[in-house]
Amino acid sequence: MKKAFSVLLLCVTMPIFGQVDYPKDAFRSPLDIPLVLAGTFGELRSNHFHSGMDIKTQQREGLPVYAIADGSVTRIKVSLWGYGKVLYVAHPNGYTSVYGHLQKFAPEIEAYIKKVQYQKKSYEVEVFPDYGEVKLEKGKVIAYTGNTGGSAGPHLHFEIRSSISEKPTNPLLYGFDVRDATNPILNNLYAYPLSQDAEINESQNKVELNFKRQEDGTFLAEKAYATGTIGLGFIGYDRLDLAANRNGVYSVQQSVNGKVFSEYDFETFSFGESRYINTLIDYDHYGRYYQKIQKLFKGPGNRLSIYKTLFNDGKIEITEGLTYNVELLIKDIKGNEVKALIPIEGKKEPVKIEREDEKTDNYLITKKPNNYDLGAAKVYFPANTFYDNFYIDLEKGEDTVKIHNNHVAAHRSFTITFDVAKYSEEEKKQLFIARLDNRLRPQYVSTYKRGTTFTARTRNLGTYTLAKDTVAPKISPRNFKEKQWLNDYQYLSLRISDDLSGIDTYSATINGEWILMEYEPKTNTLTYNFDDIILDKRECNLELTVTDNVGNSTTFTSTFFRK
Ligand SMILES: [Zn+2]
Repeated sequence: MKKAFSVLLLCVTMPIFGQVDYPKDAFRSPLDIPLVLAGTFGELRSNHFHSGMDIKTQQREGLPVYAIADGSVTRIKVSLWGYGKVLYVAHPNGYTSVYGHLQKFAPEIEAYIKKVQYQKKSYEVEVFPDYGEVKLEKGKVIAYTGNTGGSAGPHLHFEIRSSISEKPTNPLLYGFDVRDATNPILNNLYAYPLSQDAEINESQNKVELNFKRQEDGTFLAEKAYATGTIGLGFIGYDRLDLAANRNGVYSVQQSVNGKVFSEYDFETFSFGESRYINTLIDYDHYGRYYQKIQKLFKGPGNRLSIYKTLFNDGKIEITEGLTYNVELLIKDIKGNEVKALIPIEGKKEPVKIEREDEKTDNYLITKKPNNYDLGAAKVYFPANTFYDNFYIDLEKGEDTVKIHNNHVAAHRSFTITFDVAKYSEEEKKQLFIARLDNRLRPQYVSTYKRGTTFTARTRNLGTYTLAKDTVAPKISPRNFKEKQWLNDYQYLSLRISDDLSGIDTYSATINGEWILMEYEPKTNTLTYNFDDIILDKRECNLELTVTDNVGNSTTFTSTFFRK
């Protein structure tokens, strides 16, 4: 991308974001099937907003992907995680299109990247071709759809970014034909007492508001009685035609007695702000129930740029004796909408449900750095690790420490340092720092070992422990046997797995020459394509070494024949 930069600056007019006329006819579809979406732009994902649209590929892989306009490949990446195999194409009109989770690239690009993979002896690579080096014409097949990287099923992840700022924009602003005449769906409404003196329906805690559909299709909530400063939130999603899945909504507007108090949409956002999604949603609720309530008010630490209008940060000050008609309007990008009316009356009532503050001995002020000694480990939170101050729940233990729980989000990484002085050098080799998942299974966390301390950097609160992996990875052939003739075989396929710390590296050779093996962690599969190198000997000796995250390794050897 960097090198293309200067060229683009010279020859294109830059799109200016904010008030933009997005080109509606410049781009063709990246696929030649009807576009049905499995995910929309801005959709709420874990710790980020979705930065593109996910196009369903009929539960299949291998559909051709087309260049949406003339352009030049500026970035090719192959990764086990994230976008998997991904292609970035810069177009002369100042936009870059991105195609992710690909199965493979078109032959020319495939040859280009394989050369790099063989040079670097690595499956995971990233290259930035110069602008003009790998030119493409509109409609040319550039890749085939797949399911690589962090993908839960075959689909194409498609983005359109500004080539200059790299800001992703909503792909549906560019005139792609996606059928949607279906209204968004409102599932739940919530009201939050925000000030110390606030209460809603006799409660000092968040309350859920019931609502009913009226004859005109809008929803009406039961009247709420409140005092103090309050805020509202909702759970909702969008549905598109031809698919049952839940997508993210495009815009949300809250008005009070006709005045807009808060309004945001998903036209664009920057990658740098994406993690602030944790302040848009009620994170405590998410940690407990895995549901994402979108707040209609701006809470502490929220630095999102998606707001079009904000009055009093979207918070409503309730005065006794007055009535407030709140209207919530949720839209998809085609303008299909759902509307809810929430009447609130200012009335102070005796509090029946008192504020649940989970107080502990440690009130964490996030503005300053915080250090805690938990016996087995020390934990260090740099300043502004969190969005807000809170009572942190800490527990000391022998080899296990509890560092709060997943009801609070960290924005930045913090450090956990275990003292491992009591372990022998041999023991230390197989030990690692693990986080216990919600089923209390230890999950490997990247562990830096130095002298008598192990350190991990993480953004996840929870319970951490030292775990030991004594078992080396397992390797077994999938589609061949020892001493077999493999003349008609296109691929060699092997299964690899590790019981605890997980696979760190692998390397394979045939007759001493390094071969590229594609690794798919989702299916524990390594695959070698016989087209890659010419095997000039009848007898071929395969050697594969797999190493886990603490350094236990297994070498598998096998002889096969080819002519
Ligand atoms: Zn996606």
